[in-house]
This record gives sequence, structure tokens and C-alpha cells, in this order.
Amino acid sequence: MSARDPRRPGLDRRRRDGWLAAHKWLILRRLAQAGFLALFLTGPLWGWWITKGTLAASITFDVLPLTDPLMAVQALLAGHVLEVSGLVGAVLVIVAYALIGGRAFCGWVCPVNVITDFAAWLRTRLGLKEAYPLDRRLRLAILAGLLVGSAVTGTIVWEFVNPVTMLHRGLVYGSLFSAGAALWISAAILLLDVGVASRAWCGHLCPVGAFYALIGAKGLVRVSAVNRDACDNCMDCFTVCPERQVITPALRGAKNKVGPLILSRDCSNCGRCIDVCAKDVFIFTTRFHDGAGMAAQSPRDGVLQGEKML
Ligand code: SF4
Ligand code: SF4
Repeated sequence: MSARDPRRPGLDRRRRDGWLAAHKWLILRRLAQAGFLALFLTGPLWGWWITKGTLAASITFDVLPLTDPLMAVQALLAGHVLEVSGLVGAVLVIVAYALIGGRAFCGWVCPVNVITDFAAWLRTRLGLKEAYPLDRRLRLAILAGLLVGSAVTGTIVWEFVNPVTMLHRGLVYGSLFSAGAALWISAAILLLDVGVASRAWCGHLCPVGAFYALIGAKGLVRVSAVNRDACDNCMDCFTVCPERQVITPALRGAKNKVGPLILSRDCSNCGRCIDVCAKDVFIFTTRFHDGAGMAAQSPRDGVLQGEKML
């Protein structure tokens, strides 16, 4: 095997299966993120009103309300009275992410993920070391702070700085102020992630990710290190994973005592570990099926069958 370059994770997978196969889940996520944004933009741009509103609160085909549940909770704490459609929309979103796995929002919907993934790629290519490690519990403290802040001030605190809402307002309503603010906040997140700590924003600070992690802690869709015996310790999955601490228990933890399912609420179901692993260790599955049985087959058979399960 050729010497590994830690700045180029997934190189062996790309050499074996080609670029497309080695970026399958990444490509699907980008398509999903672009698709969600497009739903909101077809109305203002071409008059095709599929979804009206923004990710904060919207209605699709004039019948399906969807509300950002974190915004709804803050509004209630602030003493606002929500319309029934707003409450129904929040409940629908909570139920959906509770079933799927809450942090799927981070990997598959949130547009900020494109910036933070780019920052992580840049850090890896430049070989930057962790200069100022942050505590991942900070995001929970920030989440608690903004909930208390909303209750005390009577305002929806997070919406003053929420880059996602600002970006949507800028694009959907043509608000120059929101577009400018979104640009500045996005630039700050990029600088933070490149210059301060790897995955500083999504992995350590963002209260939205922390909130969705709590909602989807028992979500059905899980990644399993089903072929973990084939692992050659290349570390590529750890390099690309936005929450690398979630991999170790499933991959390395007392192999016969801890199952191969990645059960941490922080896993964003991004699928990058599946993309880059040349040993086909990981598959998507459900929390009720850890992929046991597939490991006895060839790794490639295992991953193909596992992907078909979804
Ligand atoms: S599971 Fe093992 S072989 Fe696969 S990318 Fe991770 S460290 Fe490398
Ligand atoms: S374990 Fe895999 S799917 Fe989960 S966050 Fe890490 S790279 Fe993404």
C-alpha cells in the first residue's frame, strides 16, 4: 500500500472506486441543501410558490406549515403567543427529526454546513494543527443561555445573530441588511473554523446543532462500523468526521462488548466516514439493525447491502 498523506483523506477510496463513489454522500447532501434552498427561492424568482417563508417558519403548497422548533421554544419563553399553524409546524419538525436523527438537519439542510465543511477541508489540506481546542459542551451552555435570555428579555435572542435565518431573509425577501449580516457572520464562521479550531462552529458553539442533537438523540437512522475488523487504522474517517469523538466507541471500543452502531446524538449522519473509508467499514442502517452478519461477508458486499437497506 502507498504511504498515506494525512492531508488527503479518502485517497485510497478514490483510487479504487473513483471520485464520484468516494463523494457519494457528500454530493447527495449538497443536492439536498441546494434543494431545500431552491424550495424557498422558486417563488420570489419565478413566481412558483412551492414554499413560502424561510427556514424559521414556512408553509408548503399552502397546507404544510413548518416552524423552526428552537425559534418556537424561544418565542414561547419570551411570552409570545404562537399561531396554531406555527405550533403545528414546530411539532411536525420535532417529530420528523426525532425519528430521523436530529443532527441530520446540520448535515443535510443547514446552508452553513457548506462553509464549515470547506473550512475543515482547508485546514486538512494546509495541515493546520489544533491551536485553541474548544470544549464541545460549550454549545449546550450557549443553548441554555439563549433560552434563559429569551425568557428574561422577552425577545427571540438567537434570531438577532442566526446566520441561517439571515441568509434566507436576504435571499428570499431581498433584504440587503440581512444579506450583508449573513455574509459577515459567514465570513466570521469561516475564519473561526480555519484559524481557531477545527469545526469550531458546528462542533462546539452552534446552539441549533445542540438543540437538534437533543431532539434526535434516539433517531432511527444510524451509521454502523459493521466491518470494523477490516479497519487498518488509516484515520481517514477521523479526519473528515465533524464529530470525530463519536467514531471511537463503535470502531475501537472493546470490540466484542460495544456494538458497531454509532449511537452518539452528535453524529450528523453526514456519511463522510462511509465515503472515505477504503475498507468499507461503515454503512447506513437503523438503530435496530447493527449490520451484524454482514461483517462475515466481503466488506464490499456488506456496504452494498447496507446501503440498500435505506
Ligand atoms: S474505519 Fe479504519 S480503515 Fe476505515 S477510514 Fe477509519 S481508520 Fe481508515
Ligand atoms: S460518524 Fe460518519 S456520519 Fe457521523 S458525523 Fe462522523 S463522518 Fe458523519
